[in-house]
Amino acid sequence: MTIFNLFKIGIGPSSSHTVGPMIIAKNFCTLIKEKEYFPLITRIKIELYGSLGATGVGHQSDIAVLLGLLGNHPKTVDTTKIEEIIENIKNKSSIKLLNEKAINFTMKEDLILHKMHSLPFHQNGIKISIYNLENELFSKIYYSVGGGEVISEDEITLEKKDEKFLPYNYSNAKELLKQCKENKITIAQLIFENEKIYKSEDEIKSSLLEIWNVMTECVTNGLNSDGILPGGLNVPKRAYRIHQKLKDKRTIDPLAFVDWINLYALAVNEENASGKRVVTAPTNGAAGIIPAVLHYVINFLVNKEDKEKVITDFLLTAGAIGLLYQRNASISGADVGCQGEVGVACSMAAAAMAEFLGATIEQIENAAEIAMEHNLGLTCDPIGGLVQIPCIERNAMAAMKAVNAARMALNEDGTHYVSLDSVIKTMFTTGKDMQNKYKETSKGGLAVHYVEC
Ligand code: SF4
Repeated sequence: MTIFNLFKIGIGPSSSHTVGPMIIAKNFCTLIKEKEYFPLITRIKIELYGSLGATGVGHQSDIAVLLGLLGNHPKTVDTTKIEEIIENIKNKSSIKLLNEKAINFTMKEDLILHKMHSLPFHQNGIKISIYNLENELFSKIYYSVGGGEVISEDEITLEKKDEKFLPYNYSNAKELLKQCKENKITIAQLIFENEKIYKSEDEIKSSLLEIWNVMTECVTNGLNSDGILPGGLNVPKRAYRIHQKLKDKRTIDPLAFVDWINLYALAVNEENASGKRVVTAPTNGAAGIIPAVLHYVINFLVNKEDKEKVITDFLLTAGAIGLLYQRNASISGADVGCQGEVGVACSMAAAAMAEFLGATIEQIENAAEIAMEHNLGLTCDPIGGLVQIPCIERNAMAAMKAVNAARMALNEDGTHYVSLDSVIKTMFTTGKDMQNKYKETSKGGLAVHYVEC
């Protein structure tokens, strides 16, 4: 129940397929080191299942696992060295676990992608085993459950802790609104108080501003990076070229800000597709929506002196809505399709935008609801398993949808027919009804109907 599980600094292209697997591999190596297996190990075998097996190469899950085995973390790994590190492992057929225990390693035999098999709990399963010669010493199953969150098989049945200690406990949107009303506080204030369970006030503020700084660096890097996206589809980057056109353009077009919102989203998602540093918001695939809307707010609507408060309140409000989805549905494309990634980010951004525009809590809830209502059923069908088409453009579309949802909600008094809780439940059941081919497997939708010109 902390928003810092939704906003994580990591690398692209995918939170569930890159960030999560890297953390899993690092956690596993740390565990076997603690268990004093290091002197005995002669082999390590990693098996990727379900969506990770089907689209792991496109999402760079294989690379992420290797980086994690070496002891890297998504927040700190040097993205400029990744290619060199991986080439080194391949050329030497050897890997150094946590950068200290060297063993033989070949991609073909020791990193296996099961394209047709899944593990029971979630589409993104990983099994890691270690051996002494032919004898298995230890193995463990993990799941990457979305947004870079990971869980091991033995943690699945453990009771969730923490919630009862939160100053403002709530399990759905209705209870969240009730707490705000009864205590006469905003959603941002409520979440801030709850976050104090985990961090000091100063730490919360500095962490939120760190997240914002990484988001702005990501936008800036995207605007300054030209060329072709990696992965083989030969998709040209657009943010750089569009920025060159827009930056000196003088126009009286009142909708010119739309180009900028689109541009910010494209910049972030091109960085993500290039494996560069991004913030999950709440996932990598959907990482452009919240920064795009917040950049619009900061660059077009806010005085310089108001900036910090606007940024922290925006992220706190967006985070509050994201937690509702994480708790009561899913934020994993492999679990519920793209409605759980782009749809959730759109809903989070709409709520935060409405809050910025001075909405009541009922209007904020309405904005979040409208944004998800019109993403229901959105499938996940990335071409070639790469987080490029439709993902990059989809973020730009969703960022504008979030702004629109906020404005629609502001024009009403907050009374509406479908509640946010209902739409969250609908998203989840729709996702569960969705065929697996539409859930980050690249076996349906655009991924199969796309024909190269
Ligand atoms: S289609 Fe949506 S859920 Fe699937 S990889 Fe792209 S952004 Fe993520």
